[in-house]
Amino acid sequence: MLKPTIGLEIHAELKTKTKMFCGCPNDPEESHPNANVCPVCLGHPGVLPTANLEAVKAVIKLGMALGGNIPQKAKFDRKSYFYPDLPKGYQISQYDEPLVLGGELAGVKVRRVHLEEDTARLTHADDGESSLVDFNRAGVPLMELVTEPVIHSAGEALRFAKELQLLLRYLEISDADMEKGEMRVEANISLADENSGEFGTKVELKNINSFKAVEGAVTYEMERQSKLLAEDEKIVQETRGWDPIKAKTFSQRVKEEAHDYRYMPEPDIPPMDFAKLGEISLDEIKSSLPELPWQKRKRFAEDYALQPAQVDFLVADKPTADFYEEAISEMEENDGGKNNTLLFNYISSDLQGLLKEANLKTTDEDFKITPAKFADLMALIAKGDITSRAAKNVLSEMFKTGLDAHQIIKNMSLDEFSGEDKLQSVVREVIEQNEKAVADYKKGKENALQFLTGQVMTKTRGGSKPDEVMNLLRELI
Ligand code: ZN
Ligand code: MN
Repeated sequence: MLKPTIGLEIHAELKTKTKMFCGCPNDPEESHPNANVCPVCLGHPGVLPTANLEAVKAVIKLGMALGGNIPQKAKFDRKSYFYPDLPKGYQISQYDEPLVLGGELAGVKVRRVHLEEDTARLTHADDGESSLVDFNRAGVPLMELVTEPVIHSAGEALRFAKELQLLLRYLEISDADMEKGEMRVEANISLADENSGEFGTKVELKNINSFKAVEGAVTYEMERQSKLLAEDEKIVQETRGWDPIKAKTFSQRVKEEAHDYRYMPEPDIPPMDFAKLGEISLDEIKSSLPELPWQKRKRFAEDYALQPAQVDFLVADKPTADFYEEAISEMEENDGGKNNTLLFNYISSDLQGLLKEANLKTTDEDFKITPAKFADLMALIAKGDITSRAAKNVLSEMFKTGLDAHQIIKNMSLDEFSGEDKLQSVVREVIEQNEKAVADYKKGKENALQFLTGQVMTKTRGGSKPDEVMNLLRELI
């Protein structure tokens, strides 16, 4: 039986104010090419890099969250290779003394995490003759995480990548948006007989720039290799890219031998010794760790009695989880978990729908619903003071205006129908206008009553209660 073995290498850009080894702004939104550059990040000879300690702290923070070991000493090394996006001929990275050793995430053992610099961005012109280089990205702090080769399915690889993205966001050290290239996944895949105890020939997958691609590329590659092996063919050790349109991997370059990067210690940056480096306190970093995604999941499941899928939904987006929690605490009467589900339902369906339609996030300034206002509306629903249909209207009005529920109900004159007299006049009107339905009801057709109730509900814009309306109809007919 063939068993796949997968190891992941994931790069993520850190969102520090300045670049890794110079004072240039680290601004991924900068649209003007080569705006944020200086002799250091352009790779001029003879310049002096200085390490950005905020980036160092960020990687240590990640290492602590992973439960990894933070060695007392770390240093930077030069990794030599030639490419037009790296004019100085080497990347400053970390070789044998990385910031983090070991750790675990989503059940997958982590080998190491180190810090390095990103390269420039190449754009290949349409004429096929020329390429453009933008150095805004050159020297942006980049963390690289390497897992042990302990993953055995595409689903596991996907879960790991998603959990890492979430963790980076919770730690607020990277936005890790794959579509923007802020997080980039590479996978090593080999297939071998389960009982042989050996690894097969390793194929490296690159250009994986979405979660869909992680799953697609790994699945495709496992199938491609097992087909070859079944036909007694040899697997070529190579680097393969992922074509998302054809949904296939393709050969990029065949490795004849292992790369020789000629690593050497970076002579211009002193090695770090955290026992002596006054600017960095490991204790301080440790105590600054926020509640981590898996801790939040456990607490939400316990405190709010939600289903695992509901917990996952909330925790997958921290601002949504925060909004939920603040709204819950604003709810005055807690009826033993019933409101928890009510709030979840309105957040996960109605509110999400409104946000999506307006292309907004709960963290945007234009999002006008506070947890307190949201909770007020939920309380009205919970008490039965407002129907779910009216609640939807109020919510969408609240989304537009930011007014509180009572004000909206007043403005929309939903409450004008809640008084018995006013409701009676509407019911009378409906009876007068629907002679046939009234006659049908008198003949014993219960459907007719449903129809009439619907008519009243429409006229009152959902501001009346169906039970009340039905009783009144029976009475007056
Ligand atoms: Zn610079
Ligand atoms: Mn790297």
